[in-house]
Amino acid sequence: MRNKIVILLLSSIIFIGCSASKEPRNLYYAKLEVRQYFHDSTKYLQDVRKVINEAKKYVEKNLDPSKNNVAIFDIDETSLNNLEYIEAFDYGFTMESWEAWVDSAKAKAIEPVLEFYHFLKQKGIKIFFITGRYESIRFKDLDPTIKNLIEVGYRDFDGIFFKPRNSKMKTSEFKSSIRRKLTEEGYYIFINIGDQFSDFEGEFPGKTFKLPNPAYLTF
Ligand SMILES: [Mg+2]
Repeated sequence: MRNKIVILLLSSIIFIGCSASKEPRNLYYAKLEVRQYFHDSTKYLQDVRKVINEAKKYVEKNLDPSKNNVAIFDIDETSLNNLEYIEAFDYGFTMESWEAWVDSAKAKAIEPVLEFYHFLKQKGIKIFFITGRYESIRFKDLDPTIKNLIEVGYRDFDGIFFKPRNSKMKTSEFKSSIRRKLTEEGYYIFINIGDQFSDFEGEFPGKTFKLPNPAYLTF
């Protein structure tokens, strides 16, 4: 009986403790944690490399050269790293500042992904970028996103699709509509790599590979 009372008392204390409203994590500490994750390069890059190693194994095991294989690459926080912009604006975002950053073409390559890009090209797999970025308004001759990709080493890709500025679609809908279009044109989507779950919506064959990105979400 005494044991039962003790258990009852203990459960009440635990219950009261759990039901007390919990303040969300302070944004200062959340940002600090994310900053440390990116800057402790062993952690972020290790996690990226883990995904890429899995992706390479998948390619080695499952590539069927008789198919018209393509790999879909997202750009931001997949192929290119925008940490300089993200931190300059303290994890905030305005369209104006973002477009100025995109126009600067200064984003760095995410090295394991760049290696994977060349690995796929050597296997004869075609590469298409699908991005929520818009084409630049300021630079018409050579779009800064294309310039940035080429300059950091993503050369000779087979196509790039920008989200149209006047589009009412969510980025996820735009991306899946392009994958559908490519499939209708006879391409086999063998690999789809991105950092957001919105990079993978809809049905397509092949396999998706999700890279880490604790800095923001796109829909
Ligand atoms: Mg992205």
